[in-house]
Amino acid sequence: MRQKIVAGNWKMNNTLNETKELLKGLKKELKGVKLDNTRVIIAPTFVNLQHAVKKTAKSVLEVSAQNLHQAKNGAFTGEISADMLLDIGVNVVILGHSERRAYFNETDEALAQKVNTAVAKGLDVIFCFGEQLEDRQNENHFSVVESQLKEALFGLQAEAFKNIILAYEPVWAIGTGQTATADQAQEMHEFIRGLLAKAYDAKLADSVSILYGGSVKPNNAEEIFSKPDVDGGLIGGASLKEKDFSAIVKSI
Ligand code: PEP
Repeated sequence: MRQKIVAGNWKMNNTLNETKELLKGLKKELKGVKLDNTRVIIAPTFVNLQHAVKKTAKSVLEVSAQNLHQAKNGAFTGEISADMLLDIGVNVVILGHSERRAYFNETDEALAQKVNTAVAKGLDVIFCFGEQLEDRQNENHFSVVESQLKEALFGLQAEAFKNIILAYEPVWAIGTGQTATADQAQEMHEFIRGLLAKAYDAKLADSVSILYGGSVKPNNAEEIFSKPDVDGGLIGGASLKEKDFSAIVKSI
């Protein structure tokens, strides 16, 4: 059975004190909640990762980084390597978020390298991709998604997909309050699973969790998560509020 996953991307939010408060609140909200076959992941900023790892050790929460550099180490000022993350107990990383593609010029080629490095080190990767509004209006959304996946992921060996979580995030739905409908999410997720089946095989396609991201809130999570090819969500804004995030987790 495919894993269900709810992941919260905290982006560049929360000082250490705010991180402490949010973690405390989340642990309280999620205490005793039955989560069969479900992973709950939070992604604080780099400087608060170590604290988060320590404070979530005996909870259902797993900690993810929001990025890494593809090189093993070296003269890359300001960057963080896979080994550095593993060293402090972080085993998951978000790669390819649309904000990193847009503001930090992350290309499919660089992302392929980052994914290769992360997977070779045994990190789980939440790989984000999705079309711009213009692509959807021009009905190019399927080909854009296909190209993003082919360029960054389909060079991987089949066994690497044990470490890959896909997150379809239409850029027009991120932080805008404009959610894709549950049917639009399902249509794209089914298409993605078809691409995986074509590039690898049906068994692999059926095993990979595909998350939806883009303005998921407590009032729309249940409907989106009810779709057969939607295995959970990547949550931005609503992951910063313990009650909202835990309500979304409970809708899975
Ligand atoms: C995101 O940034 O990945 C995201 C889905 O944000 P939001 O939930 O705020 O749309």
